[in-house]
Amino acid sequence: MTESDLKVAVVTGGGSGIGEAIAHRLCDDGMAIGVLDLDEAAAQRVAAGLRDAGHDAIGVHVDVSDRAAVEAGFGTVRAELGPVSVLVNNAGRDGFRRFVNITEDEWNAIIAVNLTGTFHCTQVGISDMIEAGWGRVINISSSSAQGGQEFMAHYVSSKAGMIGLTKSLAKELGQDGITVNTVPPGFIDTPMLRRSEAKGLLGGSVEDHEERTPVRRVGTGADIANAVAFLASEASGYITGQIIGVNGGRNT
Ligand code: NAP
Repeated sequence: MTESDLKVAVVTGGGSGIGEAIAHRLCDDGMAIGVLDLDEAAAQRVAAGLRDAGHDAIGVHVDVSDRAAVEAGFGTVRAELGPVSVLVNNAGRDGFRRFVNITEDEWNAIIAVNLTGTFHCTQVGISDMIEAGWGRVINISSSSAQGGQEFMAHYVSSKAGMIGLTKSLAKELGQDGITVNTVPPGFIDTPMLRRSEAKGLLGGSVEDHEERTPVRRVGTGADIANAVAFLASEASGYITGQIIGVNGGRNT
């Protein structure tokens, strides 16, 4: 497959924040995009904006933790845009609770979206890649899984699971021409981060963290999208099973 054949990318959680930035960047690189999101209005808004800019894009309401919904969503993308060759598992939810107080329901809810959702989307999404003998899977984990994070044991465990899944699938799918990598973001200015700020969970404002970040600024969705675009490209074909941290030097 050549670069010009890289046709259809699915971005889960593409209706907001990092996913929205990734959807825009991959469109700029010539791909058609399926924007999958739990928030249907957000998925439709992002897809409409991309179409207004002259790109091919559709918005699809999908809860990634629901296998039937994932299968239906990928079916819609395949019918409207074609076989999927790039998958960005970005949909995620966070949680903050002292470990001793995390309930089984809270634990399961986070694992269901972040880890099991990645399992569902990857298992459903890679069939086209296997058939084509070419594909890219990029998992958006979290820098918190590299260093640990108090009061986020459920979230961090789910994101660490995504790293293990990435490494295992890289070994299993390399022979099919599919690379699997993970980008763990660190402190990216998105609605998720601003919600944490509003709840007083950041130990100050988002901007207060500029001084605590080696590059002296807070990250943007575009910072993550730049790394994802490279990992989705032909040029990254010898890179698989890797953790490509994008965090301004906050984790090394
Ligand atoms: P965001 O602004 O909250 O966007 C996440 C999107 O995913 C939202 O549109 C959300 O929809 C959607 N989503 C949630 N659950 C879903 C589900 N079950 N099925 C489909 N879509 C679902 O968050 P973000 O900051 O861009 O985060 C994107 C990813 O990066 C997440 O996996 C997050 O854990 C990871 N991350 C972010 C940071 C950071 O600093 N921002 C750091 C490390 C890792 P709703 O709004 O309806 O819930």
